[in-house]
Amino acid sequence: MEGNKISQSPKSEKLALSGLSLAELEAFVKEMGLPKFRAKQLHTWIYSKWAGSFEQMTDLGADLRLKLAERAKIGSLEQKHLEVSKDGTRKYLFALPDKKLVESVLMTFQDRDSLSACVSSQVGCAVGCSFCATGYLGFKRNLSSTEIVDQVMSIQRESGKRVGNVVYMGQGEPLLNTENVIESIHKLIEQVGIGGRHITVSTSGIIPGIRRLAKEKIPVTLALSLHAPDTMTREEVVPITKQYPIAELMESLREYQSVSNRRITIEYVLLAGVTDSADQARELAELVRDINCNINLIPYNPTFDESGVAYYDRPSIDVQRRFANLASRSGKTVTIRLERGTDINAACGQLHNAYGK
Ligand code: SAH
Ligand code: SF4
Repeated sequence: MEGNKISQSPKSEKLALSGLSLAELEAFVKEMGLPKFRAKQLHTWIYSKWAGSFEQMTDLGADLRLKLAERAKIGSLEQKHLEVSKDGTRKYLFALPDKKLVESVLMTFQDRDSLSACVSSQVGCAVGCSFCATGYLGFKRNLSSTEIVDQVMSIQRESGKRVGNVVYMGQGEPLLNTENVIESIHKLIEQVGIGGRHITVSTSGIIPGIRRLAKEKIPVTLALSLHAPDTMTREEVVPITKQYPIAELMESLREYQSVSNRRITIEYVLLAGVTDSADQARELAELVRDINCNINLIPYNPTFDESGVAYYDRPSIDVQRRFANLASRSGKTVTIRLERGTDINAACGQLHNAYGK
């Protein structure tokens, strides 16, 4: 637990406070020999006032602020780059304390008041889906809960805008970093103040992770990246299918639902000539018939090989609509995902197109 890490971290290494729980802040002030109420003050400055430095914490006294700055820092992430799309989407490149890079995205939707942050849960990803830029990077390391939460806090500090929704759809497979991800969800709910119902965890289908999440009984939305209803295609595009077959996966969703009662989102990437046939649309409808879910179709966002050639093609609008119509015969709501930030490579699966090397 991070509470322990506080006393373990060497004096020379500054401790990042943004992303710590109140209990962890209390452990920190205790270690500094400060009274307990200082933790609450720090908590308010960090999570309610989005302070970016100790200098701003005017009720702490100059000496104390200096002392704090010697031992700690606000966030664990350093913003390296920010790109703003024509549609207002903001893509951040953050450096972690070990200089590894992750990306996070802030999305604004005209028809919605609240903003959504898309966060990364790992540096790179081990799953290696055939259409995903993060997959090509391979797995580097898991993010800590503090590093996950600080993505949301850094976005709020930089943009001055309140994040209302968080989706775990950036780099990485959240359910291969399940414990830190669950801890980060608790922190987003309890420290940052984001409603559990406004948090979505997207997984490529890691069955033990789905079971673990069910046990935690937190009211988040589970999104399953299905992408193909038949084993042959799914094994090709989502290689982890060999380890976690479709039938067992569907069973784990039913189990999840029997505990959580929440509607699941089925994500489905449309790859021309690979996952977009009429038969696959019908098969998809059949496969999810007894699951309480919505289907979200994601037209492929181009990802490129070394020589700049896209791996797949995106189906035409007509094919997308035909697929949606056939899939909706199961009585499920089928939506085609609105593209966000493709001009800055911030759309699904494009993260690390530009910085990956
Ligand atoms: N690892 C998790 C979450 C991150 S990916 C997962 O796979 O679910 C978030 C979503 O973007 C997933 O549904 C993923 O399959 C999709 N995605 C990845 N690459 C894409 C691409 N090139 N075009 C469209 N969607 C993509
Ligand atoms: Fe990993 Fe998700 Fe990309 Fe697949 S789609 S490689 S699971 S990040």
